[in-house]
Amino acid sequence: MRTEIIKLDASDPDEEVLKRAGELIRKGELVAFPTETVYGLGGDALNPEAAKKIYSAKGRPSDNPLIVHIEEMEALESIAAEIPEAAVRAAGAFWPGPLTMIFKKTAKVPCETSGGLDTVAVRMPLHKAAAGLIRFAGGYIAAPSANASGRPSPTSAAHVIEDLQGRIPMILDGGDADIGLESTIVDFTEEIPVILRPGFINIEMLEEVLGEVRLDPGLIDAEANRGVRPKAPGMRYRHYAPKAPLFVVEGEEAAVISRIISLAGEAAAPGKRVGIIASESSAVLYAEKLEGMRPVITALGSRNEDLTVARKLFGALRDFDREEVDVIYSESFDTPHLGMAIMNRLLKAAGHQVITA
Ligand code: AMP
Ligand code: MG
Repeated sequence: MRTEIIKLDASDPDEEVLKRAGELIRKGELVAFPTETVYGLGGDALNPEAAKKIYSAKGRPSDNPLIVHIEEMEALESIAAEIPEAAVRAAGAFWPGPLTMIFKKTAKVPCETSGGLDTVAVRMPLHKAAAGLIRFAGGYIAAPSANASGRPSPTSAAHVIEDLQGRIPMILDGGDADIGLESTIVDFTEEIPVILRPGFINIEMLEEVLGEVRLDPGLIDAEANRGVRPKAPGMRYRHYAPKAPLFVVEGEEAAVISRIISLAGEAAAPGKRVGIIASESSAVLYAEKLEGMRPVITALGSRNEDLTVARKLFGALRDFDREEVDVIYSESFDTPHLGMAIMNRLLKAAGHQVITA
């Protein structure tokens, strides 16, 4: 299949392009499009055949449900069977934006879209191109991240092209994603809202609006909760994994840096190519100390600006595949705002291989 790739101005997307893309979706076809979190692979959420196409284009297990993207509140009423008052408040505070809410679904949502569950995940994206596309597509776009299943989520059109060119008819290129991590998922079918996937909207922001908020047990210390299945089906699968084994080194900053330097030295001695995920300040140190070993050092940014770290993480994981490194060591990023979301993705990418310095 030929894939048409169209550039869009994220702040002022061309309506004609969005209309044409929307028509493709109405016809049951798929279009990859930018959002403020990551790129989505969109199909008509109310068309079971479109949902099947999404699973097959990604190579995604069909029991892993899709998020339904809407553009106006009225759309929620026809797909959510019950909208608790807390969800209305959350929507008021965070929609449009990077928050996905889980509701009991109505019959309007096909089982293919909900992965066989009786609940539906719904998000109203902020990105102008996404909002316009949803409107032209008829109001309901099912979209998981536009990556091949198992690979890091795409934060640029180049990432989507890498994974899906030739498998879908259209990719809308709106530049780099603003946030770079997938939406926060909150389950509103329980008495007390439960975070199923951490994201830009963090627990403190949710608590401020909702009062008590819980964390899915599958999210709290994966080691301690071995055997507890995360409630978001997608969180159960191995994800984001680079080809090389990745180890996250935790501990006090200076100890982490010296441990990574010694680990990298040991690995490089027999000729292995080492990748390092660092913060801005320590990247220079590694370059100095490991000079001659030619490590691939990726500085994600400063811990004080963790949005930069979030934005760059998935792209960095993809870069290591391209550089063909043999092993990757990463610092940890327990930053105040996005630390939980960043560490959730990083630890999943590492298959929870943690070294304590
Ligand atoms: P993606 O953003 O591509 O990673 O995929 C959507 C995520 O939302 C996956 O982790 C799904 O498991 C999760 N999800 C979608 N629908 C539901 C639902 N009804 N209940 C729980 N999790 C869901
Ligand atoms: Mg995904």
